[in-house]
Amino acid sequence: MTAKLINGNEIARQIREELKQETAHLKSGHNVVPGLVTILVGQNPASISYVTAKQKISKELGFYSVQDNQPENISEGELLALIEKYNKDPQIHGILVQLPLPKHIHETNVLLAIDPRKDVDGFHPINVGKLMIGEADYLPCTPAGIQQLLIRTGVETSGAEVVVVGRSNIVGKPIANILLQKQKGANATVTICHTGSKNMEFHTKRADILIVAAGKPKAITADMVKEGAVVIDVGVNRIGVTPEGKAKLCGDVDFENVKEKAGAITPVPGGVGPMTITMLMMNTVKAAGIAAGVKHT
Ligand code: NAP
Repeated sequence: MTAKLINGNEIARQIREELKQETAHLKSGHNVVPGLVTILVGQNPASISYVTAKQKISKELGFYSVQDNQPENISEGELLALIEKYNKDPQIHGILVQLPLPKHIHETNVLLAIDPRKDVDGFHPINVGKLMIGEADYLPCTPAGIQQLLIRTGVETSGAEVVVVGRSNIVGKPIANILLQKQKGANATVTICHTGSKNMEFHTKRADILIVAAGKPKAITADMVKEGAVVIDVGVNRIGVTPEGKAKLCGDVDFENVKEKAGAITPVPGGVGPMTITMLMMNTVKAAGIAAGVKHT
C-alpha cells in the first residue's frame, strides 16, 4: 500500500484564506483589527527566520503587526516590563515571545507574565489547565495544527487508538490531551510513549493514528506501524545541507518505508510544520474576537 500524502501546505493555505476573511469581517463588522506582537531577544538566526515568517503571514492576513527586537543583554525585569506594556495595549491581542531566551532569563517567569487572554502560544499554565478540563480558548499551536490535519483529511478520531511518541510540554502532552477530550475531532483512546516505555513497538503497532514527536530520525520504522495507520510525523531533524546551501530535513519516521504500509502520512517538510504558524494566526484572530465579544467561527 502506498499511503495518501497529507499535504500540510495546502491545508494551511485553506485555513489562512478563512482567517483572512474572518479578519476582514472583524474589521468591517466590529472595527477590530487582530494585533500580534512578536518579541525577539538577541540575534539567533533560526529565531530571526521564525519571527520574520510570523510577521510576514500576519501582515498578509491583514493584522496589526508589531515586531519588537530586543538586545541579547536585556534584563529579565526589562523584558517583563515590556510584556506588561503589551498586556495593557488594547491594539495587541496576541503576544509571542520567541523561544529560546538567553540563559539569564527564566522562561517560566516570562510565560507567566503574559496575560492568559493574549497567550496565543497556549503555554501559560492557566491555558494548559483549561485544556486539561476541556475548556481551552487557545490550543498550543503545533498540537492544534495536528488536530486540524486530522479533521480536514477526514480522519475519524472518535474511538480511534491514538499512540503519541514523546511527552514534551509543547507537543506530546498537549496533543494527547486534545485528542482525549470528549469533543468533536477528539474522543480517542490515547497512549503516550517515551524513553521509559517498555516494548514501544507493542504500543505503536496498535495505533490507528500514530503521532511521533521524538526528535530522533527513523525512531519509527515500518515494522512498528500497523497496516493502514495514519502517521503524523512532527519531527524536524537537520541531517545536512542541500546543494543550494539550505538545511536538509527529515522527520522522526522512516518515511520511504513507512509510506508503503501506512494509510496516510505527513511528509517532512510540508506536513505539520506549515500548520504551526497558521494556528498562531488562528489563536490571534480568536483572541481579537474574544476581546471584542465576537465568537470565533
Ligand atoms: P523534546 O522536548 O525533545 O521531547 C522529545 C520526547 O520524545 C521526549 O518526551 C522523549 O522522551 C521522547 N523520545 C525521544 N526519543 C525517543 C524514543 N526513541 N522512543 C520514545 N520516545 C522518545 O521534543 P519536542 O519539543 O516535543 O519536539 C519533538 C520533535 O518535533 C523535534 O524534532 C522538534 O524539532 C519537532 N517539532 C516540530 C514542530 C513543528 O512545527 N513542525 C514544532 C515543535 C517541535 P523522554 O521524555 O523520556 O526524554
